[in-house]
Amino acid sequence: MRQIDETSADVVRLTDVRKTYGGKRTSVVALDGVSISFGRATFTAVMGPSGSGKSTFLHCAAGLDRPTGGTVVVADQDLAELSEVELTRLRRERIGFVFQAFNLLPALTVQDNVTLPLRLAGRRAKPELVRRVIEQVGLGDRRRHLPGELSGGQQQRVAIARALVARPAVIFADEPTGALDTRTARDVLGLLRDAVDRAGQTVVMVTHDPVATSYADRVVFLADGRLVGELADPTAAGVAERMTNLGAWAEHEPAGVR
Ligand code: ADP
Repeated sequence: MRQIDETSADVVRLTDVRKTYGGKRTSVVALDGVSISFGRATFTAVMGPSGSGKSTFLHCAAGLDRPTGGTVVVADQDLAELSEVELTRLRRERIGFVFQAFNLLPALTVQDNVTLPLRLAGRRAKPELVRRVIEQVGLGDRRRHLPGELSGGQQQRVAIARALVARPAVIFADEPTGALDTRTARDVLGLLRDAVDRAGQTVVMVTHDPVATSYADRVVFLADGRLVGELADPTAAGVAERMTNLGAWAEHEPAGVR
């Protein structure tokens, strides 16, 4: 793989990305020409009604799925030029993931869950860095606990530490607060915000929640597979209003009902 250019301002760039599912008669256009860039040390929220293409967008941008057309560049790598093995390596080394379901391994301690992606990538986890990241998410005294011994919010903190420890070029978060109560959700969003402000991390977060978007620098709106607008420095009220104008709430389904 080519060496990554750390000086490039855009960490992720999508150009005219299209994704079509199904065959000729039953084809669904999930992404219909999406172009957008995510700069280093920025926090962007992606919003849209159910079925607007948010998951497809995240999967294509993160190299979990290949688009039907257009280009996706992550950390200066054109994903279309990579073999499956190279793509897996890029995902492991340069991309962090935080999902609604925390996806921790129940038999591993907090510390071992956090270092797992590094070990899978054949990298040594520097004990000092691991300790710092676990402390950063407020779990310094839970290092040796199992996920089952932690609350939902604490488990999501482990997932965030796991995403941060590899110092990825970008973290993709898919409804990271979907399974959390309001207060815990705010703590988790604050952690992502801190990672951007203090560590220069880049975060792209798909969410249904206008309050969650207020932690981002920018929110972009998807409708019917297209980007239909954006707001800088979003407020929950401003975003809720824009979603109402998009007709989003009328189509909104509870998280998990797809
Ligand atoms: P969102 O995350 O905003 O709810 P999705 O990206 O899941 O939207 O879906 C966008 C569109 O693509 C929807 O019409 C959905 O039904 C369709 N779609 C998503 N995944 C598949 C798939 N694997 N096969 C067929 N259609 C799909």
